[in-house]
Amino acid sequence: MPAVSFQELIASTSASAVSDDRLPDGFDHVETDSRQVRCGDLFWALKGERHDGHDFVDQAFANGAAACVVQAGQHIDHDGLLIEVDDTTAAFGRFAAWYREQMDAITIGVTGSVGKTTTRHMIHTVLSGRFSGTQSPKNFNNHFGVPLSLLGIAPDDEFAVLELAASGIGEICRLATIARPEIGVITRIAPTHLDEFGSIDNICSAKGELLEALPPSGFAVINGDDDRVLTLASRAGCPVIRVGEQPHNDVIATNVVAQNEWLRFRVGETDFSLPAVGRHHLTAALVAIAIAREIGMSDGEIAAALRQFEAVPGRCQIQRIGDWTVIDDTYNASPASMQAACEILGNWQHGHNTILVAGDMLALGDESEQYHEQLGRTVAQSGISRLIAIGPQAANLAGTAKAHGMDAGCLGACRDLTTLELLLDCWLEAGDVILVKGSRGMHMERVIEHLRTLA
Ligand code: ATP
Ligand code: MG
Repeated sequence: MPAVSFQELIASTSASAVSDDRLPDGFDHVETDSRQVRCGDLFWALKGERHDGHDFVDQAFANGAAACVVQAGQHIDHDGLLIEVDDTTAAFGRFAAWYREQMDAITIGVTGSVGKTTTRHMIHTVLSGRFSGTQSPKNFNNHFGVPLSLLGIAPDDEFAVLELAASGIGEICRLATIARPEIGVITRIAPTHLDEFGSIDNICSAKGELLEALPPSGFAVINGDDDRVLTLASRAGCPVIRVGEQPHNDVIATNVVAQNEWLRFRVGETDFSLPAVGRHHLTAALVAIAIAREIGMSDGEIAAALRQFEAVPGRCQIQRIGDWTVIDDTYNASPASMQAACEILGNWQHGHNTILVAGDMLALGDESEQYHEQLGRTVAQSGISRLIAIGPQAANLAGTAKAHGMDAGCLGACRDLTTLELLLDCWLEAGDVILVKGSRGMHMERVIEHLRTLA
């Protein structure tokens, strides 16, 4: 980031006290991890679920921090420059909002129950075909991640694509107030974080907060094939572009073919080829096309840029391990993305066996059992060759697949990873296509690591 003065920091955060009148010139990097602090950085003490940054102020100064932003009343015993604020998280948002206003980049906010990271990365890939810009790093999408992403915008960036997530009503509104996006995207409404939201209607309502936050001069791009998302359009005070396959949309994909490692489709007169596994990438691609067209890219430029797409690690990422094609979808799982995974394996051409290694979908509250049964039915109906399930719902999942016609000899319900690995070792044959997926808490990346040891 360009140098920021301490006067600007104090004004933008409404700091309540400063421990020393003699302020250094300024700082050009903000760090929230004391281990990463370099000489001259500003350390921001945030309180997370596991750690409280105030416990690491000494370490930050030892590493050369010019100053630390701390919460008033924390009684930090250190001679270094302390900037006190009422609440370090809220002040972090205020500072990031101020910083973002200094930057010229067009800001694009992406929300939805699934596909935020995928869509964010797709938009970044396409816009990078003509413009220079930035995107949220990793999965930075909450009250810490959004400000951090904003601080990553450089003065010469022409666009910034940010992921905005919520686990409750009002959160997207707060994040949008900080990020002030000119363009808003809603990918899809689906059951995720049900234990926190309580109902899908609450999830839907929360995502609509992004549309309300957009300025009249901006625009929204929404998934017009999702009935719930469509109902949100009236909450926008700016133009709304609907994308999808259905004829009521403004940007319509036809001739859609999702086969193995490519997704091909046509929009208007142009054919697009996207190196991505799964038809569910279509919405992300159409969103990127709609935005790119609006800001002046030609379809030819967009098509060329889409061919450069590379999957985000852990999201339908192809890996060649030994003689197998492994689809690493270990980042997370929800009913919607498990459905997408079943479609991928069900439609796979020329493989030997297709194997779904499925960890439990977590955070579904009271409806967990029902969603795993639904998945079992989908697996059986998709024509997937084998299912290996792991987690508390594994027996339920495999049992439902069997009840819907899948051969018991092709089903495994495992209590632990060792059993899962043994089963895999017995079943794997050269040419198999293996999709590995489960909720974050299931750590399904361990299965990919095991496959590597076998190759
Ligand atoms: P999080 O809320 O954890 O940040 P996210 O909304 O950023 O998730 P992604 O990380 O893009 O979503 O994708 C999560 C999972 O959902 C991945 O398995 C991905 O392949 C799958 N996925 C992405 N887009 C869709 C979609 N439109 N429909 C169904 N599944 C999708
Ligand atoms: Mg994400």
